[in-house]
Amino acid sequence: MWPDEARAQAGAVDAKLAAGTAGQLAGMVIGIKDVLAYAGHSLQSSSRMLDGFKSLYTGTAVQRLLDADAIIIGRQNCDEFAMGGSNETSYFGPARNAIDPNRVPGGSSGGSAVAVQADMCLASIGSDTGGSVRQPAAFCGVIGFKPTYSRISRYGLVAFASSFDQIGPITRSVADAALLTEVMAGPDGMDSTASQREVPAYSQQLTPAPHYRIGYIADAVNNEGLNPEIKAAMETQLDVLRGQGHVVEAVDFPYLDFMIPTYYILTTAEASSNLGRFDGVKYGYRAPDATDLESMYKKSRAQGFGPEVQRRILLGTFVLSASYYDAYYTKAQRVRRLIKEKTDELLRQYDFLVLPTTPTTAFNIGEKQDPVSMYLADIFTVQASLAGVPAISVPVGEDAAGLPIGLQVMAGAFREADLLAFASTIT
Ligand code: GLN
Repeated sequence: MWPDEARAQAGAVDAKLAAGTAGQLAGMVIGIKDVLAYAGHSLQSSSRMLDGFKSLYTGTAVQRLLDADAIIIGRQNCDEFAMGGSNETSYFGPARNAIDPNRVPGGSSGGSAVAVQADMCLASIGSDTGGSVRQPAAFCGVIGFKPTYSRISRYGLVAFASSFDQIGPITRSVADAALLTEVMAGPDGMDSTASQREVPAYSQQLTPAPHYRIGYIADAVNNEGLNPEIKAAMETQLDVLRGQGHVVEAVDFPYLDFMIPTYYILTTAEASSNLGRFDGVKYGYRAPDATDLESMYKKSRAQGFGPEVQRRILLGTFVLSASYYDAYYTKAQRVRRLIKEKTDELLRQYDFLVLPTTPTTAFNIGEKQDPVSMYLADIFTVQASLAGVPAISVPVGEDAAGLPIGLQVMAGAFREADLLAFASTIT
């Protein structure tokens, strides 16, 4: 159904092009992650829980793409409810890295990154809660951009952790990331948390300043878990930046060890609440063998959610439970504030902070069996998510096995224009 529709859309865009009335994205073929609502089309968050579910409405970001005459080609595989870093938690099975099909494409927007990597579409739209656009982009050698929290409306995005979730593009060029963000961003009556700020024409502002002040987190570059080839690529990049006349300095960031616990306490708490709506009544999957209301809830949720989603719901309800709330949830909120304040402070002293996107290149499918080792791999991406600031991953070469390496750049809140202009000089 999608390809037929896409063909029809393309025909309509052709006519508009001939008439000179085509929109900004005329003819751009775009895939969307399976967490974005598009009326009349399946929306499953790669979960059995939403088997057979079709969106009743189109989310704001997707609607804006359509209004700009993009062609939506199809739905993309991801981790179940965007929970994961390898696309292996998907009910549909893993997506595979196009460079080596035994390796993961990253996650949770894994299918979205591979689709761009393998030229199945020009761009993908993913969602990033703790790195899900940036990390798969790094593993697939493409660009992944998470704008400032609230820059793009979340209306029509299946909620994972609402104070973190942000829609973002995966592309081959920074210019396309800028253009797509410009089209999708902006105030929206359907999402009261969407920023009211005017959206700059990012795609017209890609000229970088001659000199920037750039900080790098020394503990990140010297992190013992960091793959030596990624470390070497980072150091080369820092030298290149120095050679270009930028000020490049090491900075102290004392909270690196607190990042993963804080992120996982807060996001599981939010997820346990957001996923409460999937009760077997309103959406998708309902257990066939239930005998009463209570057992319908229990069986539908036990059969509908995969193991990773269940683990997170359990973790989330635990940290929110009466006797542990202060010890975990409240404390994590406080640590988030510290991380945010320190990050904001550094981003006032420096135009950008650079760090690796990931500690390793794409790993093998099935390699990370222990959930904690999977969580720890998010060490470099969750800072921007906890602080709500924009961050981009750009490819900066590959390791000896030919697997791509990503460099991540963060900027202060709403400094997307500067960030994109700078990032366009790296690729
Ligand atoms: N890997 C992270 C997690 O599992 C990020 C997921 C995301 O950004 N959606 O929570």
